[in-house]
Amino acid sequence: MTKVLWIKKGLVFIDDRFQEVDIKIIDGKIDSLHPSVAVPLQEKAATTIDASGCLVVPGFIDAHVHFNDPGRTDWEGMETGSRAAAKGGTTTIFDMPLNSSPSVTNVTTLREKKEYLSSLASVDYALWGGITETNLTNHSELEEMSSGIIAWKAFMSESGIADFPFVSPGGLEQAMQTAKDHHKILALHAEWEEEIARLTVQYQTAKGSEGRQAFLASRPISAEEKAVSHGLELAAKYGTAVHFVHISSARIIGLIDQAKKSGVNVTVETCPHYLLFDEIDFLEKGALLKCCPPLRPRSEVEGLWDCLKNGLIDTIGSDHSPCLYSMKLTPSIWEAWGGIQGVQFTWLALIDEALRRNIQLSEIVPLGTARVADRFGIADRKGRLLPGLDADVVLIRLDETTLATKESFAFRNQYSPYENKEFLLRVKKTILRGNVIFDDEENRIIEKYGREL
Ligand SMILES: [Zn+2]
Repeated sequence: MTKVLWIKKGLVFIDDRFQEVDIKIIDGKIDSLHPSVAVPLQEKAATTIDASGCLVVPGFIDAHVHFNDPGRTDWEGMETGSRAAAKGGTTTIFDMPLNSSPSVTNVTTLREKKEYLSSLASVDYALWGGITETNLTNHSELEEMSSGIIAWKAFMSESGIADFPFVSPGGLEQAMQTAKDHHKILALHAEWEEEIARLTVQYQTAKGSEGRQAFLASRPISAEEKAVSHGLELAAKYGTAVHFVHISSARIIGLIDQAKKSGVNVTVETCPHYLLFDEIDFLEKGALLKCCPPLRPRSEVEGLWDCLKNGLIDTIGSDHSPCLYSMKLTPSIWEAWGGIQGVQFTWLALIDEALRRNIQLSEIVPLGTARVADRFGIADRKGRLLPGLDADVVLIRLDETTLATKESFAFRNQYSPYENKEFLLRVKKTILRGNVIFDDEENRIIEKYGREL
């Protein structure tokens, strides 16, 4: 039987602005949009969600999470990670090829990961594939993998995971060619290994609070700049579509923008932690806010917001990268695991900050919806509230708040730099393909409705 759902009387984000529109959903797809005044009478067999007082936006697409499943499920897992995503308004995630174990760098692992995850996710998902220094000459293997992944990921510096070796500057040429041949995007973790390795040796004798300062000094913006410059040069040379992940500095985003304007097929992601926290926060909180590249001075945070307002940032991903809490409590900052637990709070935190800065939500919402869908080739299903697309919808209230308490965490390990923060909004419902997967009133998550794209 046909399942009809109406979302009525909300302020709906369509064509980059909020409009009073009713959404008719049939069997999980958006069927049609209607001016709220001309709503037809209740149809038989139709369910209605009253969205009065709510902003209604497309479900967020987080193109950058590490759910560590299978292999490191004590760090996270698809079940817990995707529940946290749903609670924060995210309806689609792309899972990185590391830190699940083994890393997704060959056909067998990719196939096994797909089978294993097939019944665990509460949100829709796609998988990244990894290009490393050791698999990059395995052309037939990579070609077979390419049809089952959303895009390629490579590191230009030490990844911290033994079976995911970074690609050398020379190896990156082959990775570029491979990605180009497969018509896939190549996403890069861009820090220049030679510079970081040298500075790490120089600084890592520093311990305690001095260690924190020294850690920052060991991964300067110049190392990002060198890596991005090399990546841009090769992207231009090979005609490869490149996506720089977690860029932390406005100067680097400026470089990328120049290349983009000169015709290079390149996009750039930043993460909420670079937009919300600075190096002073890291010096105070230590490993809880350890990430690579590290947090930057306040001037860079402000610079990133300027980039965002000027349209220079393409996408925002959480880079949700958890670990056991004990791995954050190491005596030395150098040994602590780097990564931020953020998937549940990405859009709560960003929209909250945008509101405080008087930035229109129409400037920020597309960076987690339409822009991601366009870049990764899923705009025929995801990213907008338009007829024919999946009915992935989030209802948000701006007159209610969210306090990020431990009890509210849906991810596996109960710590986060967002703990005790209060956000000036609340996710009321998350809807995936016409199904309410998170309901705030009932504090209920419908599990395992997600499927692979
Ligand atoms: Zn990452």
